[in-house]
Amino acid sequence: MTATDIAREVESLREQLENYNYQYYVLDDPSVPDAEYDRCMRRLQQLESAHPELLRADSPTQRVGASPLQHFEQVSHEVPMLSLDNAFDGQEMAAFNRRLLDRLGGTEETLEFACEPKLDGIAVSLLYRDGILERGATRGDGRTGENITQNVRTIASIPLRLRGEGYPRVLEVRGEIYLPKAGFDRLNTQARERGEKTFVNPRNAAAGSLRQLDSQITASRQLEMCCYSVGLVEGGDLPQKHSQVLALLQAWGLRINAESAVVSGIDACDDYYEALARRRDELPYDIDGIVFKVNVLALQKRLGFVSRAPRWAIARKFPAQEEMTRVLDVEFQVGRTGAITPVARLAPVFVGGVTVSNATLHNSDEISRLGLQIDDTVIVRRAGDVIPQVVSVILDKRPQISHPIVFPTQCPICGSAVEREEDEATLRCMGGLVCAAQQKAAIKHFVSRRAMDVDGLGAKLVDQLVDEGLVENVASLYSMEAEQVLALERMAQKSFDNLQAALERSKETTLPRFIFSLGIREVGEATALSLARHFGSWENLAQASEQQLLEVEDVGPIVADHLLQFFDSATSMAVVAALRSAGVHWNDLEVTPATAQPLHGETWVVTGKLEALGRNEAKAHLQNLGAKVAGSVSQRTHCVVAGPGAGSKLSKAEDLGVEVIDEEQFLALLRTLGAIE
Ligand code: NAD
Repeated sequence: MTATDIAREVESLREQLENYNYQYYVLDDPSVPDAEYDRCMRRLQQLESAHPELLRADSPTQRVGASPLQHFEQVSHEVPMLSLDNAFDGQEMAAFNRRLLDRLGGTEETLEFACEPKLDGIAVSLLYRDGILERGATRGDGRTGENITQNVRTIASIPLRLRGEGYPRVLEVRGEIYLPKAGFDRLNTQARERGEKTFVNPRNAAAGSLRQLDSQITASRQLEMCCYSVGLVEGGDLPQKHSQVLALLQAWGLRINAESAVVSGIDACDDYYEALARRRDELPYDIDGIVFKVNVLALQKRLGFVSRAPRWAIARKFPAQEEMTRVLDVEFQVGRTGAITPVARLAPVFVGGVTVSNATLHNSDEISRLGLQIDDTVIVRRAGDVIPQVVSVILDKRPQISHPIVFPTQCPICGSAVEREEDEATLRCMGGLVCAAQQKAAIKHFVSRRAMDVDGLGAKLVDQLVDEGLVENVASLYSMEAEQVLALERMAQKSFDNLQAALERSKETTLPRFIFSLGIREVGEATALSLARHFGSWENLAQASEQQLLEVEDVGPIVADHLLQFFDSATSMAVVAALRSAGVHWNDLEVTPATAQPLHGETWVVTGKLEALGRNEAKAHLQNLGAKVAGSVSQRTHCVVAGPGAGSKLSKAEDLGVEVIDEEQFLALLRTLGAIE
């Protein structure tokens, strides 16, 4: 590269980073994922350090954040609010430790570090005078921030008056205001329902919620604050260590992060990082890394600052949960009930710990909301084990020729007509069991472990059987011709024998499993169980009127309608008859009156993430057992089932002394009560 090339690249990176900063800090609407921003920033830092003659004081590498918005009153930070340097792996952490020890000139051997989760929100300063909250401000560009006092006052975890005594006359507390995951999900669900733009991630949602001119909006957003340092201090002394300062802040009524810890030496920092990384998804708030700070304040002072960040702290970032990639194509998948789902085929990208090459686009509403076209560059988010989502389109990177996404007018699999149902953004193939995609999906569901549990009939074999025309519906599984099946590629006599034996075994089933295995729309495992318990026999169920169906605890008008359609369909009834004449059988159940149900009269709450069941399934089980399932915890709550990530409902239950059980205990209870096997 020539000197001119380098200068040109430096200029272009600066311009790019300025634009990214503006979108991110001023508009709260980032145009690229953080990982891309960090890559550009690192490249610019490398070029500037290799060519110091190109360094300029106004380079993004030298500055914090962005200028404050004009429509807020401006606030000067007497002690600047800085950013943090980043480390991306253990080696960079070791280099950070060496730099510290060198700079301290060999006076220290092992440093003590304060470790704190790096909450992904917005940095805020709170100024207390004589213990009274006087002013709240954003970080802005580090020297000038925005006065957001009115908005800050609406946040319940920020005390308007400090507790206890001994606080300095003037105390500036700094911390992060953030939106817990549950609040973020709620906000985006509401936005989606109203057809409004959703927030890309909790950080932007928090920033957008806080920088509102109308503090009522801020108040409605369930923001929280965690404090992690002090700025200006006058008329009082603070202790010698950062961790002791935090403990004092807590005593004065300010929230600090419960995960904060003090460790000795850089290896222990790595251990802390690994341990919290494993629990990242369980935390009720987003964190994007861990902040490590030299704990002794006198050493912090000796180490000092560079223009943008303190030398005594570093943020070790977690692997990115958002990345950018290109949408190569959009394909349409046909599901069990004929729903046609658009799926984005992506240029493979490593995000959230795995390589992602597909993402569901849900339906046409979602595509219009995103404004997505084929060949677009998009931000893909994968947090925890949640399926990857396309969160936004990077319009700046749209090629000159991109292709709009055209929805099929015929089923892409069987060519049948497609229909858009009233009030539904979903397109549906009307081919029913004529459609090979629906046939395959229905059979895969029928043989699955929680339905008829036919071992040895995997997805590939089902595809083969349908493609070769050997099986067209679930009943024909029981009348397959041995010769034809054995002629299939890779089908040995032994596998065939095993398959036959598994099919034979599956004939002896239970009524709930049978109902579930039919794949009636909206009839999941728990609904199947309540139907079976309520009606006792297939005949009673199949003859039930709408009114009678609606008497079942978790059956509403939509489910009742799907059930009635199923029983009205001659094809479906013929399949059920064929299954029964093939020998599929079960015992009828005793019908339990409501008052005899084990949890009759109890109110339960389900919160957090349930790994094995899912929340809806758990709720349906509870309803089957006679319990009412409520959305909030009160004194009348009998028990709370809390999974990882449970937040305010769990703390409220603990405060009220309501019994709390985890998923493991809940499953054990369901087993004891015979609700699951
Ligand atoms: P940063 O977020 O990397 O680190 C500094 C901030 O961390 C502090 O200001 C504070 O808000 C926060 N923090 C959280 N917990 C803390 C704790 N315990 N102690 C101290 N600080 C804590 O730096 P930044 O300057 O705010 O932002 C830069 C980062 O923002 C970039 O690395 C990038 O990831 C992202 N960014 C993205 C874009 C984009 O377009 N996607 C644009 C600009 C910035």
